[in-house]
Amino acid sequence: MTDVAIVGMGPWGLSVLERLVTGALERPSSRHDLTVHVVEPGTPGSGVYGGPQPDYLILNTPCGQHSMYPFAAPGRAGMGFYEWAVASGYQWVGDRCDVTTRGRPLTPHDFLPRRLMGEYLAWAYRCLEREAPEGVTFVHHPTTAAGLEAHDGRERLRLAGGGVLDVDHVVLTTGHTPNGRPPGAAFLPPYPVDGLAGTVPELTSVGVQGMGLVALDVVMALTRGRGGTFVRRDGRLRYRPSGTEPRIALFSRSGTPYCAKSLGATDLTDEFEAVICTRTALRELRADGRRMDARRELLPLVFAEMTVAYYTQAARLAEGPGAAPVVAERLAAAWRAGRFSGAVAGLADRFGAFDADAHFFAGESESFVSSKDYEVWVTDLLATDVDAALVPNGASPVKVAYEVLRPLRDAMRDAVEYGGLAPASHRDFQANLRNRVARIVAGPPVHRNEQLLALMDAEIVRTPFGPSPEVVPDGDGAVVASRLLDRQHAERVDRLVAAHIDQPTVHDSSSPLLRQLFADGRVRQFQVDGEELGSIDLTEDFHPVRADGHPERRLWVFGALAEGVRYYTAYIPGPASRVRAFLDARVCAEQILEEA
Ligand SMILES: Cc1cc2nc3c(=O)[nH]c(=O)nc-3n(C[C@H](O)[C@H](O)[C@H](O)COP(=O)(O)OP(=O)(O)OC[C@H]3O[C@@H](n4cnc5c(N)ncnc54)[C@H](O)[C@@H]3O)c2cc1C
Repeated sequence: MTDVAIVGMGPWGLSVLERLVTGALERPSSRHDLTVHVVEPGTPGSGVYGGPQPDYLILNTPCGQHSMYPFAAPGRAGMGFYEWAVASGYQWVGDRCDVTTRGRPLTPHDFLPRRLMGEYLAWAYRCLEREAPEGVTFVHHPTTAAGLEAHDGRERLRLAGGGVLDVDHVVLTTGHTPNGRPPGAAFLPPYPVDGLAGTVPELTSVGVQGMGLVALDVVMALTRGRGGTFVRRDGRLRYRPSGTEPRIALFSRSGTPYCAKSLGATDLTDEFEAVICTRTALRELRADGRRMDARRELLPLVFAEMTVAYYTQAARLAEGPGAAPVVAERLAAAWRAGRFSGAVAGLADRFGAFDADAHFFAGESESFVSSKDYEVWVTDLLATDVDAALVPNGASPVKVAYEVLRPLRDAMRDAVEYGGLAPASHRDFQANLRNRVARIVAGPPVHRNEQLLALMDAEIVRTPFGPSPEVVPDGDGAVVASRLLDRQHAERVDRLVAAHIDQPTVHDSSSPLLRQLFADGRVRQFQVDGEELGSIDLTEDFHPVRADGHPERRLWVFGALAEGVRYYTAYIPGPASRVRAFLDARVCAEQILEEA
């Protein structure tokens, strides 16, 4: 008899469960004797997508790209998210998704409300429960795990509200586990966004710290969520206010908004073949265990690959499909011969200039005279990007170059995870570069950035402070003052929202479970060359490393809790660029099933 506890049954816990069930089904001759204890206070499967959520909170990936059954599974009950939503009868009614026959049918390119993902994941959990072979049993414990101790050669999990569970393996998939220190008393949390109705009064002014996806959720809650509507007039989206919106000032460290996902673009991970930033080239960066500098060694390869993508697409559009491989081969040969910039200059004459570095670090080397100057720059950047994203099927050469970061992100993991970067570069990667990649490739659907432009046009959303302003708390609000504008701009906002999600740490966690594991020396901070770097430390087969350097073989950690020692963990596992989660989970499931 083997007992395994999965602590946190969101999408990552579900991917471990899927691999356990599939692994058990693939061993038809074995007699199974496995109990899976699911410790989860919410609906099992749903994670952050559970509970009631307004439909304007949408996923940032098209529904056709999600499936909790990412591998061919003939005879299995599961299906992809799009197929499930259609089979469930969902259709669009305005910007809502309802079960109806009188709405507009869904397409695989649609960005559906997150609420539906919560339902889909809960459905997938129930499917797995039904499909589990004889001898594999699920037990749901609707509570949180509050502590964990080694006990008699097994693990004893302490459940909040009383009770213990003795198990052989514990899989920790608790997601975005918050840190202990709040960002400051003056800051309001962004979620649940409905809470902002109570904390941000009508007609006040609110400073939103962050310009990424969380900030867009906050903006939507304070506008669309307050009864405002978007209408298209003369081909352009306009905002019709309800009259109750606060004035919203967005700001962030980089001061650069996220790029939009293109209309009809698909995830090309399975077809993509790098010609410069290959897995071999990336592996060489780590040869003999050396630690690299991401800006100096990794990014040039990434930028070169983006440049190849831009010019091959530009050549395809201008001269037909036959021109693309010729350009790719010419650029790859020029890279090998050390003549890349000359070859690029030649192509720029034919197809226009493309500077991957400037796109990636947009804003970093800009200087702004005034608040107005910066606001015009933000609006132009958003509008140019929206125009590129509206080119059907993601065919704009700039967007094709951006999309290269999606498959490359997976290859980059091999270069940067588990101490691939020198300590200073690791900190730079976590603080700056990771967000730059996300800005380009993990942005909102294009209609969301069109809505943001409409809100800026209506002067409900502004960006008056420039990058990296100073924030001085003042009562319930704060005084925000520009630091990088030649002509200083400062104003008081009545409320402040911290619109970002910090990376989980182990030395400063708000989770009693993690705090105890850290205090007991059963987990430690990830270290590079003796420097402690905040996140949990893991072995390459996903076990936490103890303070004494030994692995905890009965414990496993996956998902956002592992961000830091690992790279790119906060996503819904699925096919193509999201399949790594299932491959990692398989390592864990196979070992548990072998032992069972
Ligand atoms: C608001 C928001 C929107 C997002 N939108 C997207 C998106 O559109 N697309 C995308 O790919 N990614 C998105 N993400 C990223 C997100 O990290 C992943 O999509 C996904 O939710 C991660 O899955 P997870 O299982 O790691 O974490 P979660 O979904 O957070 O699930 C973790 C689960 O652990 C449980 N838990 C926590 N602590 C304990 C404990 N001590 N004991 C027992 N249970 C516990 C929680 O109740 C929760 O159900 C979003 C994240 C947020 C916060």
